[in-house]
Amino acid sequence: MFKAVVTGAAGFIGSTLCRALLAEDVEVVGIDKFTPYYWPQRKWRNIADLQMNPRFTLVHDDLATADLVSLYGDATVVFHLAGQPGVRTSWSTGFDEYVTENVLATQCVLEAAREHGDVRVVYASSSSVYGNAERYPCRETDRPAPFSPYGVTKLAGEHLAVLYARNYGVSTVSLRFFTVYGPSQRPEMAIAQMIDAALKGNTFNLFAARGAVRDFTYVDDIVRAVILAGRTPDLPPGLVLNVCGGEPATMIDVLEYVHGIVGEDIPVDLSPAMPGDVLRTGGDNRLAREALGWRPTTRLFDGVLQQVLWRASELGLSTPRLDGWMSEPVRPLRT
Ligand code: NAD
Repeated sequence: MFKAVVTGAAGFIGSTLCRALLAEDVEVVGIDKFTPYYWPQRKWRNIADLQMNPRFTLVHDDLATADLVSLYGDATVVFHLAGQPGVRTSWSTGFDEYVTENVLATQCVLEAAREHGDVRVVYASSSSVYGNAERYPCRETDRPAPFSPYGVTKLAGEHLAVLYARNYGVSTVSLRFFTVYGPSQRPEMAIAQMIDAALKGNTFNLFAARGAVRDFTYVDDIVRAVILAGRTPDLPPGLVLNVCGGEPATMIDVLEYVHGIVGEDIPVDLSPAMPGDVLRTGGDNRLAREALGWRPTTRLFDGVLQQVLWRASELGLSTPRLDGWMSEPVRPLRT
């Protein structure tokens, strides 16, 4: 059994990661400060089941002030998922919050790892470091060119991870996540909004061109890559890897999936692209496949179905159509 620290443990990806680690008998110390970016009750709900597990400890604290070296203790890996997400709000909310949570907090995590001397840090980077790329699919060696303040801060965090590796030999791996979706997705993200629109009859506000393409990645696939990055021995220090689903699709494609699953029309309001929105994301995940022996296994339709069923159950909604999907046999994974 090994021990792991998860920062941002109450968030969308962090709580899913904690659940997967606990299922593998890992002892998990989760830290989260419950930022008000979205409804904090959502985060408490994310970890309600985890808190029943005696191998899970929650530390309700800020990375900037917590005694991280003691917190790491005899852990072998720190999964650093805490951060301030949101491309559009990184213009409006105040850049200082993005700098505080994505740059300064990341430096605290890395500095404590240097002092501790014996933990690997897996850093949640983002496809937003690429911006509107010169070519697709993006490769890790392409020149990063963030298109939003959020992307700038995620790239700064990644640079910090690389330079702690190069200067001090801290074992760091940065994973560039591409649009993550699935149960517990942050409520302001597009697929969560579409599903709520379909289930509750709200209007879905579709920003950007109808053709905007995202390399959607199912949260369980992300979590498997994160765990492998924490466990795989002898990775080159400062490694940076794309973690993407490899099945890019438009927002309209996903709307059609949601419509097909729920069976209700989704009223859509089309708005122009907002500052920071890129037209396309798409990654080459060859390096992650080679370095980690990882590959994405969830088809976009199947992942969206799981998210719809999760949300319907959370809202206490049941329709013959949704019940029908629940009893569908699980479709085979993509090979
Ligand atoms: P989330 O907002 O659900 O989770 C982040 C958590 O970090 C929150 O619970 C927040 O309270 C916590 N946190 C923030 N600052 C903290 C601090 N100083 N101390 C302690 N806790 C703090 O976001 P998410 O979607 O789960 O994303 C997790 C990570 O993955 C983030 O770093 C994000 O930038 C990155 N990422 C996410 C996506 C995606 O599609 N969701 C894509 C690329 C990268």
